[in-house]
Amino acid sequence: MTAPVVQIIDVHRIYDTGAVQVHALRRVSFDIEAGEMVAIMGPSGSGKSTLMHTLGCLDRPTRGSYLLAGEDVAGRSDDELAQLRNRYLGFVFQEFNLLPSMHALDNVILPLTYRPMAARERRERAERALQQVGLADRMHHRPNQLSGGQKQRAAVARSLATDPSLLLADEPTGNLDTRAQEDLMRLLTALNRDGMTVVIVTHEEDVAAHCRRVIRLLDGEIVSDEPARVGAKP
Ligand code: ADP
Ligand code: MG
Repeated sequence: MTAPVVQIIDVHRIYDTGAVQVHALRRVSFDIEAGEMVAIMGPSGSGKSTLMHTLGCLDRPTRGSYLLAGEDVAGRSDDELAQLRNRYLGFVFQEFNLLPSMHALDNVILPLTYRPMAARERRERAERALQQVGLADRMHHRPNQLSGGQKQRAAVARSLATDPSLLLADEPTGNLDTRAQEDLMRLLTALNRDGMTVVIVTHEEDVAAHCRRVIRLLDGEIVSDEPARVGAKP
């Protein structure tokens, strides 16, 4: 049997700021199986970003354990965490985080730079990823020549280029208008239908409605973890 993509077991994250300790995550436990599409919701300050940084191997739990694709993240060096990220994870951010001086194709090639493969194979992979997100005709455009929705599609292509086990999106629609938001959610839903495991942090009930499962946080604790209430959108 394959291990769940994510196993979070009794995770706590305490920020020690000297004067005060901030308990940003408490007793957080859940699994995410391959092929799931999960929304993480909660008010500002509830621990969403902290949880996302944990899932993304950008931060380590203070207590508890995190297994990513069956690999225990505890005790890994920063270099080893970077390797886990590159091997297993794709990231999509609210601010797109594309390099402005590079066209879309080079932005998508970037995460493949350290993979042992021929330059031609990197390029072909990146081209395939851009085709997958519907940007075949925009590969040689720089970010400032793309709409918000297209930028986020390019960022999704970049996250797909390394063939990740898990796609993590932190408020991916935060800078998009309603139409581009729906468009991006259709894309993420289609990727999920093709087998990609997706986790989305969002404030938008509309966005969460596309996910089959919603985990809600409050003050660092999970207050609910259930199938999306209104039937998931097609
Ligand atoms: P959210 O993303 O849901 O807004 P965060 O995970 O950013 O929540 O924050 C959870 C809690 O942890 C908040 O009280 C926040 O102020 C605190 N916090 C987040 N990052 C840090 C940090 N680097 N140092 C100290 N406290 C932090
Ligand atoms: Mg946040």
